[in-house]
Amino acid sequence: MTKQLKITAFMKPKPEKKKIEADEFGVITIDDDTSFRKFDDDDFVEDYGDIKRKKNSSIKSANSQMRDNTNPNNNNTNDGPRKCPFYKKIPGTKFAVDAFNFGLIPGIQFYFLSHFHYDHYIGLKKSFIGTIVCSPITGRLVMSQIGIAENQLIMIDIHQPIMIDGVQIIAIDAFHCPGAVLFLMNLPNGKRILHTGDFRASPAMEKDIYLTEKPIDQIYLDTTYCDPNYKFPAQDETLQAILNITKDHLEKYKQTLIVCGTYSIGKEKVFKIICSSLSLNLWVTTAKLKLLKCIDDKEINSYLVTDKTKAQVHVLPMKDINQRALREYLSEFGKKYSSVLAFKPTGWTEDGKSLSSVKPIIRDNISIYGIPYSEHSSYSELERFIKFFKPKTITPTVNVGNQKKRESMFKIFADWKTGDKKR
Ligand SMILES: [Zn+2]
Repeated sequence: MTKQLKITAFMKPKPEKKKIEADEFGVITIDDDTSFRKFDDDDFVEDYGDIKRKKNSSIKSANSQMRDNTNPNNNNTNDGPRKCPFYKKIPGTKFAVDAFNFGLIPGIQFYFLSHFHYDHYIGLKKSFIGTIVCSPITGRLVMSQIGIAENQLIMIDIHQPIMIDGVQIIAIDAFHCPGAVLFLMNLPNGKRILHTGDFRASPAMEKDIYLTEKPIDQIYLDTTYCDPNYKFPAQDETLQAILNITKDHLEKYKQTLIVCGTYSIGKEKVFKIICSSLSLNLWVTTAKLKLLKCIDDKEINSYLVTDKTKAQVHVLPMKDINQRALREYLSEFGKKYSSVLAFKPTGWTEDGKSLSSVKPIIRDNISIYGIPYSEHSSYSELERFIKFFKPKTITPTVNVGNQKKRESMFKIFADWKTGDKKR
């Protein structure tokens, strides 16, 4: 069943009825000020994991050469890669963003990768033969972790405009993980499209000369926390709180091992601020070291040591930030340390709305702090960002697989447009 919804967040549709047809992306353009998007529920099935999907014979044949390389979860070789959802393709271009799980996509020549998080590069394998556009950090990660050849990469530096297939592309810091960028696309027809990838909206973006030079027509938006319930402190406040907790703890217990939990990449600022403010050395696992080499942050590099007994700050996988594992870890060091202070930076949690409500879990000499440290925008940051840039169209890219959430997001977009003060 085909569903039609309006996501014309910052415009009023023209009342006259014209006979109009959707283009291949499902976008119906009436004039420069108005566009409607036809949504097919199948477009919104989230592209993670093993999901049932409709066969698409035309896509299947175009992708036959990629069949064995894509969608490792799909055991049915007759099925082929699933159809790329419309919101991953940029209308009027040969670009797709974070769309590696669909084989080679018909009409797409350039595969943009916003950052190196698994849910964005899922499906990307060494055998991929397309051209990838990304930041240099993401490029180095893609080469080192996946084995993609350098000649398949177009690496663009932040604030260095380049032309790709007649479109000017500008990468802008997304304030997400290292290497994460927003892609601003200036099309030959004058249309300006911004794809946020994953991002934490910041007031700094309101001063960005490239973002502000002309109005932005369409924003593909990271809607991870597009719900008024998602409140959490600014990153700087969280980092300051982490630093204060650490200082207090060290005052009481000088021989403390400080442990920070991380996933693959992201949350680096947590151990960075501890090392820089307290002049402490840093030790990380071999796997993390490989990632940090790609990130090549001069400041982080200056704290790193290879001998774990020579560093007071250790970075461990998030799964190891629990009482049992940390107690065992502490025992490796004999009498060197008397206690462990561990930080587990999380995204949003019900009790993490304010930093004052954060309470550690303490058992004997092990203290674990779950800290609300998000690399996605809070609801109020998203609201401020959209109200500042006033795009004509917002296309959500996260939580779109659920019709209820989708409808709630469109209601929010409409409220932002009309300046609803209730939220
Ligand atoms: Zn991400």
